[in-house]
Amino acid sequence: KLYNQIQDLKGNIRVYCRVRPFLPGQISSLSSVAGMEERTITIMTPTKYGKDGSKSFTFNKVFGPAATQDGVFSDMQPLIRSVLDGFNVCIFAYGQTGSGKTYTMSGPKVLTEESLGVNYRALNDLFNLQAQRKGTIDYDISVQMIEIYNEQKGLAVPDASMVPVTSTSDVVELMNQGQKNRAVGSTAINDRSSRSHSCLTVHVQGRDLTSGTGLRGCMHLVDLAGSERVDKSEVVGDRLKEAQYINKSLSALGDVIASLSQKNTHVPYRNSKLTQLLQDSLGGQAKTFMFVHISPELDAVGETISTLKFAERVA
Ligand code: ADP
Ligand code: MG
Repeated sequence: KLYNQIQDLKGNIRVYCRVRPFLPGQISSLSSVAGMEERTITIMTPTKYGKDGSKSFTFNKVFGPAATQDGVFSDMQPLIRSVLDGFNVCIFAYGQTGSGKTYTMSGPKVLTEESLGVNYRALNDLFNLQAQRKGTIDYDISVQMIEIYNEQKGLAVPDASMVPVTSTSDVVELMNQGQKNRAVGSTAINDRSSRSHSCLTVHVQGRDLTSGTGLRGCMHLVDLAGSERVDKSEVVGDRLKEAQYINKSLSALGDVIASLSQKNTHVPYRNSKLTQLLQDSLGGQAKTFMFVHISPELDAVGETISTLKFAERVA
């Protein structure tokens, strides 16, 4: 029991749920969210899911529509900082298209200081710490943007090489380039929905100036492809193939995280490009954050429940 508590405290895998607010013009009374507490969210469900028509899910934390970008970030800040001590960290944004994944990771289209996403805040934090430790530890920080589109293709953005960075604005520039190159296609849900996983990887190399010892840490910030299940009658050809690849890689990711959180001896990393890419940063001493995103609309309740079930499995 004590052992389990210690393992819990170490908390190598944390699952957070974030509910986005209704967007301007949406009717906010038609919500599928029946209740929210610090760690639990309750969803109104079609009757087949439960006698009382609602179902609750529990996570490390639930962020409601009023949560700020700063609030979301500050919870994970200590673990992000551990990258500079040589730990590996993975942060995932999961959810159906339109649920707020990109908002959490990057921010809205028009950025303000308050709306900056996790990517910018994390990098900024690393640069600040780098400056603070100057004279004690020398750090080289470089970033890489990788896009995974349709498993086999494993298409990367044209320049997937590591780029040394020294400030947040270097990173912003690189990310803007990456975003432009991201594959987009039209679906019934969203005419520019994200059909690829986009991964910003931060490599850190440190050298202790007194002892001369070196360390390496790395952080993957992953904005996953939309998790919506696609109605096979609505899409054909390339769109159907894309949907199948997305499905495959998201369930492979779910399998890996679930087997890590159950402390299984066999972890099925090899089942997708995504999990292969992240293998060194999932499991062992590495720390994982999974942000699952919920759209509050009643129309989205089917996807919301399937998202929460995915999340519950990996928590
Ligand atoms: P996804 O990346 O999952 O497809 P987006 O991040 O693009 O979704 O979010 C869809 C829309 O909702 C965008 O206009 C975005 O700015 C807005 N949005 C998402 N989350 C929030 C939030 N927490 N607060 C305010 N607006 C949000
Ligand atoms: Mg997006």
